[in-house]
Amino acid sequence: MSEKKQVVLELYERLFEAFGPLHWWPAESRFEVIMGAVLTQNTAWRNVEKGIAALKARDLLSPEAMYNIPLNKLAALIRPCGYYNIKAERLKSFVMFLYKGYEGDLDKLLGIELITLRKELLSVKGIGPETADSIILYAAQKPSFVVDAYTQRVLYRHHLIPNDVSYDMIQDFFMDRLPRDVQLYNEYHALLVHLGKSFCSKTRPKCVQCPLEGFNQ
Ligand code: SF4
Repeated sequence: MSEKKQVVLELYERLFEAFGPLHWWPAESRFEVIMGAVLTQNTAWRNVEKGIAALKARDLLSPEAMYNIPLNKLAALIRPCGYYNIKAERLKSFVMFLYKGYEGDLDKLLGIELITLRKELLSVKGIGPETADSIILYAAQKPSFVVDAYTQRVLYRHHLIPNDVSYDMIQDFFMDRLPRDVQLYNEYHALLVHLGKSFCSKTRPKCVQCPLEGFNQ
């Protein structure tokens, strides 16, 4: 086994031992996962929960309901999520895309092969690589590793990647060294997010208490 492959597995094992399993993604349906993946852009999850609860209370967590609700009403409901006008447009863009290309049928969209699905999702306004991969992994249950700012920070701080590498390079870093395993990618990303939130903040990392203290130093 190559040295870096070993390190990627050891990193996972350390985190899983400390925090796992985390049972992601916290949602009741695949459509809710997709809505959450858009709403969580640039905001904390607790704010997303408020927006999701407001949508759920009005029975709006379905493609049809989301298609029919006026944009301004939608924006008002998701206000707690921040950037609510932009995010309302993004949710609408997604359902328009779903109706235009897939007759509003989520199974039809999520059933397509991974590479094509990723390209399709990236063609939707407001869906970037992190959101697309979250949808592919947590809603479609296909193995596309999700990268976020925490992932990049942890790898950089542990000398596994240089600073300023692209999203795709970080994704390849994992996918070239791990089996294509949905459950493994699901858990690994959840663990890295938990690590970032609990210990590896941008300005004040709590290294002494962290399960990765001394790892790959
Ligand atoms: S808090 Fe410190 S030990 Fe933990 S992941 Fe960040 S840099 Fe590493």
